[in-house]
Amino acid sequence: MSDNQDFDLIIVGAGSGGVRLARMSAAKGARVAVVESRYLGGTCVNVGCVPKKLFVYGSHAGEDIEDAAGYGWNVPGDQISFDWTRLVANKNAEIERLNGIYGRMLANAGVTVIEGTASLADAHTVVVGERSYTAKHITIATGSWPVVPDVPGKECVLTSNEMFYLPQLPRQAVVWGGGYIAVEFAGILAGLGVETTLLYRGDLFLRGFDDDVREFTATEMRKKGVDLRFGVNIESIESEDTHYNVDLTDGSRLHTGLVMAATGRRALVDGLGLEGLGVQLSASGHVVVDDHFQTVVPSITALGDVIGTPQLTPVALAQGMVLSRRLFGDGQGEMDYACIPTAVFCQPNIGTVGLTEAEAREAGHKLRIYRSEFKPMKHTLSGRDERSLMKLVVDADTDRVLGAHMVGPDAGEITQGIAVALKAGATKAQFDSTIGIHPTSAEEFVTMREPVA
Ligand SMILES: Cc1cc2nc3c(=O)[nH]c(=O)nc-3n(C[C@H](O)[C@H](O)[C@H](O)COP(=O)(O)OP(=O)(O)OC[C@H]3O[C@@H](n4cnc5c(N)ncnc54)[C@H](O)[C@@H]3O)c2cc1C
Repeated sequence: MSDNQDFDLIIVGAGSGGVRLARMSAAKGARVAVVESRYLGGTCVNVGCVPKKLFVYGSHAGEDIEDAAGYGWNVPGDQISFDWTRLVANKNAEIERLNGIYGRMLANAGVTVIEGTASLADAHTVVVGERSYTAKHITIATGSWPVVPDVPGKECVLTSNEMFYLPQLPRQAVVWGGGYIAVEFAGILAGLGVETTLLYRGDLFLRGFDDDVREFTATEMRKKGVDLRFGVNIESIESEDTHYNVDLTDGSRLHTGLVMAATGRRALVDGLGLEGLGVQLSASGHVVVDDHFQTVVPSITALGDVIGTPQLTPVALAQGMVLSRRLFGDGQGEMDYACIPTAVFCQPNIGTVGLTEAEAREAGHKLRIYRSEFKPMKHTLSGRDERSLMKLVVDADTDRVLGAHMVGPDAGEITQGIAVALKAGATKAQFDSTIGIHPTSAEEFVTMREPVA
């Protein structure tokens, strides 16, 4: 490794991908620095997966309390109240704890943490404030940032970043967008008693998920009181005292206390100076890399959200490990983007892995579809009108399970195990010969016998 540089590797961004790359590389003996401008742990820890899931737990607790009545608990409605500021304060304390853990983890690994905003002066030099640092390799791991469409009044809109620090809950909210972040926040707000309207310009939200899952989720969310409006967009927003008037493309007007936009994210490359060094950006603004995270500049690599691969923490973590092995290890291992499982923590949850029915048909597979819809056992006594969906997409010629999809409590937890089976190439016959765990919802995945199509 080079001795005439300050470091073997400087990583810009201490998020999911950057921290994993830093720790793994330092463990292999490399001299590593990571530059971070905002928060250790990046989006996931501070304004993403972690606080989001804590809010989902908080939101769902209301239903759990109500459901307890059917199990014999006395739940006097007039004594139950919810304190948003306490949830936010407790969440903040947990995030601070995690920030501390990340700091200690990096220090213990021997990684130098440099606080500040980085830019690249040349292919081996990173500038932070007044200081310059040189390295043999530089990795861009700067993540992504929310984008708000350009409509009059867009300055009134909050993004997920601000939602995590909202001082108080409004009585009504509009969530703008149809991706998983919009759907999750609509669920969080509705569960906390906010009258919630979700607006999406397309026919149905959650594009890219299985159509049955999308429709089933819409039905379940509507049952929980979320006003889902598809085929409509925001034309303009005007603030009036503490409220907003939101004019929609269908000519209607909403009066609301908050507008949250979850309308997409862009690669965060502002001010890095990449174009000046010849690093290519795609039409969508992502850093262009090859299969080995290499940009066209030999010393500069990039990973995570900034390169436009699936924007998920476990993907950034896996990329960090592969890149570390390439830079400082045996170079073995490639990223495999097939069968990435994912969850949407709406209420009820979605868990999904593999191909949707539409994707499998488009790829030319002859299919058998297995589908089961039922009331989860918990809701026999709780009385709640909530149903679950499970679906398997099976190749009729090979019997291989191509996709598994679920809407229901703990769908994310259940789908992780199913993902191992799909990754291993499991057939429907192997699902069928697996003994179920009774009584669970998950056993339905191994007991669906008759195809519905
Ligand atoms: C609301 C929300 C919910 C999410 N929920 C999930 C989920 O449930 N599951 C899941 O898998 N994924 C989820 N994600 C996605 C996940 O958070 C990202 O995919 C992941 O954080 C990407 O990691 P990264 O390392 O690429 O970037 P990040 O984690 O974004 O880290 C990039 C870091 O770089 C820093 N940085 C940027 N520019 C500079 C600069 N010039 N100088 C110094 N530092 C800089 C940033 O401050 C940041 O800390 C969610 C995202 C959001 C927004």
